Amino acid sequence: MTRCYIGLGSNLEDPRQQVSQALTELAQLAHCQLIAASSIYRSDPVGPPGQPDYINAVACLDTELEAHSLLDQLQAIEQAHDRVRKIHWGPRTLDLDLLLYGNQTISTERLTVPHAFMAERSFVLWPLAEIAPATVLPDGRALEQLLSKCPMGTLQRIPV
Ligand code: ATP
Ligand code: CA
Ligand code: CA
Repeated sequence: MTRCYIGLGSNLEDPRQQVSQALTELAQLAHCQLIAASSIYRSDPVGPPGQPDYINAVACLDTELEAHSLLDQLQAIEQAHDRVRKIHWGPRTLDLDLLLYGNQTISTERLTVPHAFMAERSFVLWPLAEIAPATVLPDGRALEQLLSKCPMGTLQRIPV
């Protein structure tokens, strides 16, 4: 079993519903167990201007799947949510990023783990801190340390 963390994001077609539905789908993945999910957060869009706000969350999953097989499953869920890849960092119904896969560092054509930008994204770090405050990255950087350099800013936790 490998403990991993998945970042969820959506800014199209009822984003809160997209994210909560995706959490249900993660919980139903074969050879995986959903351990925890953060609250839902609202964040300003990254990338091209004029997009709607994002809804974000982070989930903790224990899995027996190899990292690339897990990515296949995540992409299948994105596809089931009618994810259409158009412009880079453009609006999307659902984005599932593999943030951490155990303590492994992975660098292949399809997969970079830890996720390349997680250390500088408040909408990843703060939800992660809610469910796994003691996280340390494979390079030894503690989540606490990353948070101190990445203020919440306009990120908002949405009360349940
Ligand atoms: P960002 O990576 O900056 O968050 P994005 O999520 O919009 O951008 P996508 O279009 O969803 O990017 O993904 C592009 C490609 O990134 C995917 O086809 C996938 O192969 C690759 N990729 C590399 N590392 C990861 C990872 N850790 N999690 C998910 N996809 C990854
Ligand atoms: Ca992403
Ligand atoms: Ca992605």
